[in-house]
Amino acid sequence: MLIDRYGRSINGLRISVTENCNFSCFYCHREGCPDSSREMTPDEIGNIIRIVSGFGVEKIKITGGEPLLRDDIVDVVAASVQPGIKEVSMTTNGVFLPDKAQELSEAGLSRVNISLDTLDAEKFSKITGTDSLPRVLEGIEAALEARLVPVKLNMVVLRGINEKEVDRMIDFASERGMILQLIELVDLNGEDFQAHHMALDEIERDLAARAVAVRTRRLMQSRKRYLLPRGEVEVVRPMHNTKFCAHCHRLRLTPDGYLKPCLMRNDNLVDILSHVRAGNLDGARKAFVEAVERREPYFKRAAQERCVHAV
Ligand code: SAM
Repeated sequence: MLIDRYGRSINGLRISVTENCNFSCFYCHREGCPDSSREMTPDEIGNIIRIVSGFGVEKIKITGGEPLLRDDIVDVVAASVQPGIKEVSMTTNGVFLPDKAQELSEAGLSRVNISLDTLDAEKFSKITGTDSLPRVLEGIEAALEARLVPVKLNMVVLRGINEKEVDRMIDFASERGMILQLIELVDLNGEDFQAHHMALDEIERDLAARAVAVRTRRLMQSRKRYLLPRGEVEVVRPMHNTKFCAHCHRLRLTPDGYLKPCLMRNDNLVDILSHVRAGNLDGARKAFVEAVERREPYFKRAAQERCVHAV
C-alpha cells in the first residue's frame, strides 16, 4: 500500500465516469472536475483499476456527473470488479435505478449512495431543477430490492432550505434500513455558498445526545457515525476540517483520465489515461505514484503549517 508524504495510506479511488448530468443542483461541485475533453472506456477504467489495486487500493466509488447516464455503465461496473478490489459502490441521483439496479447488482456493484436532500417536492425542484422526486423514491425501492445495501442517502444540509428536515429524513431512512449521510455544503462553485452553508455542530450535538453509541470511521476522513435508537446517521464535514484531510485515504480520477489528489484543487492533476492508451503500463504506474506524492492536506493544522513555512 502506498503512503503519502503525510503518512496517509491510499485505499480508495473515486472515479467520476462522466461530466454529464440530468440534474442541475444549484450547489453542485461537480466533484471538483474541470471540463473534460475525452471520456474513459470501460476497458480503460478497468486497466486503471488493475494498476491501482496493485498498489493496495481496495475500494472503488463510481460517481459523476450522473454515472447512470452512461449507456455502458453496467460494463464500467463489471470492469471495476477486479482481484484485490473489496468494494465497488456508486453515488447516483437514483433516477435510472428502477431500470438499472438489478443489472448493476448482477454486474458486481456492492451498494449505492443515493442523493436525496429533501422529501418535499417543491424544495426538490428548487434544488435539482427537476420534478424527479417520485422517480428517485422508486429508485430507492429498486436499490433495496436489488440488495445494493447498505443504501446510504446523501443529504447536503442547506440553511434556509432543508435543515429542519433532518428528523424526517432520519425516520425515512431508518424505516427502510438505510443510513443517512448528512453532508456539509462545500464551497467550490461559489454559488449561494454564503446563503446556504451551515456548520453541522448543532445537529451533531443533538445526534450525540440521542445516540446509543458514537463511532469514528478512521479510514473515512474521521467521519462520525451516530447509532440512534432507531437508525444510523453519518456526518461528513469537509470544510476547514483538518481531521477530514488528515484521515483522507483516497485519490480521485476525473472523467478524462487525470488522477486528482484533492477534491478542492485542480492545479496538481496527473494524466494516467494517456499512458494507458499508449499501452505504457509502467508510465501509468509512475503516474499513480506521482499523484500520491502530490497529495497534501487542503486544510492543515496551524502548527503543521508553521512547520512547513519554517523549512
Ligand atoms: N449525480 C450523482 C449524484 O447526484 O449523487 C453523483 C455526483 S454528485 C456530484 C455526488 C455527491 O456530491 C452528491 O451526493 C451531492 O449531493 C454531493 N455534492 C455536490 N455538490 C456538493 C457541495 N457543494 N457540497 C457538498 N456535497 C456536494
